Amino acid sequence: MQYREIAGEKVGCIGLGCEHLDRKPAERAIETVGAALEYGVNLFDVFMPGCEVRENIAKALGERRKDVMIQGHIGSTDVKQQYDISRDLPTVQKYFEEALRIFGGYIDFGMMFFIDSENDYKNVFETGFADYVQRLKKQGDIRHIGFSSHNPVTAVKAIQTGLPEMLMFSVNPAFDMLPAAENIFDHFETDFGVGLFRGIDPKRAELYTLCAEKEIGITVMKVFGAGKLLSKEHTPFGKPLTSAQCLHYALSRPAVQCVLPGCQTREEVEGVMRYFGSTDSERDYAETLATMRNNFRGSCVYCGHCQPCPSGIDIAAAHKYLDIARLNPDNGTVKAHLQGVLGEPCIACGNCEERCPFGVPVIKNIAEAQALT
Ligand code: SF4
Ligand code: SF4
Repeated sequence: MQYREIAGEKVGCIGLGCEHLDRKPAERAIETVGAALEYGVNLFDVFMPGCEVRENIAKALGERRKDVMIQGHIGSTDVKQQYDISRDLPTVQKYFEEALRIFGGYIDFGMMFFIDSENDYKNVFETGFADYVQRLKKQGDIRHIGFSSHNPVTAVKAIQTGLPEMLMFSVNPAFDMLPAAENIFDHFETDFGVGLFRGIDPKRAELYTLCAEKEIGITVMKVFGAGKLLSKEHTPFGKPLTSAQCLHYALSRPAVQCVLPGCQTREEVEGVMRYFGSTDSERDYAETLATMRNNFRGSCVYCGHCQPCPSGIDIAAAHKYLDIARLNPDNGTVKAHLQGVLGEPCIACGNCEERCPFGVPVIKNIAEAQALT
């Protein structure tokens, strides 16, 4: 396992989304959670409101509960259907307090559940909901405040309140190309709405860079796009991506600290953990993304194909920090990071631009980065 950091906590970069353990026998949770623990997984997302699945996971963790972290969701209920959202405080409290009881009296990341629409935003931040969440933290019931969202515009707004310390967001190459105004759930039963893609949506790019700038760690849901990116029939690209490519894509976005694939067997856990033994070329998503090359043209996707650079510049990392610095040129930390990856001055040899599959004007961008530091 490789570890990254969220809100000062050391988090394995692959965690476990436990959704598919819902309505399964306890033995399945014991097998899957047990396999994840063997690989060093220490972050488990438990958004499901059902008592049985939560208890199965707690049982599977046993004494190891204290060694791992739980993302528990505040406002996730099953009042009207299996997965339902509530902002009604007595209902929210009932479900969340049950999670507290089951998971040893505390939840590590208390996630304000599903803040997608303007209404969701208002119902969380302009009512007693956010006060309740702050009380939970003050009392030590939750260690950190986070939230989940699928909408980059609303997520940016939520982060700007200054309350959340982390975010769970849907990240994969197909969603990144979906205009922010589109609801991703409208595209689950389609082929992702092929006609809608137009390169990395600027609102999503803005969200990632804002998170990186404010050190809001992102945990990732839907890393395989509900399996569609792995399938020949439904991928919007010329060919399916592999599991390693999807994981690597998400893990190479700015601010992403952990991906949470939804495994439901030991074999599935072992499958995603093969990521750590994969080679750079097996992780390389650029060729597949380039089957929609025109849509990405000119935008750096941080793939690293342009290396090596004779001046020792880490070109992908420099673009990542440059994108953040463009958002806030006065951020000294970002400038320091940028300086750390710039190496010697660019000699404009042009090797990188020849190698870049996406037509990024690297020389111009590196000059801009060097001028900023
Ligand atoms: S400049 Fe091009 S090749 Fe280099 S990391 Fe960006 S997209 Fe990839
Ligand atoms: S043009 Fe500049 S950034 Fe690109 S490989 Fe040459 S020295 Fe490095």
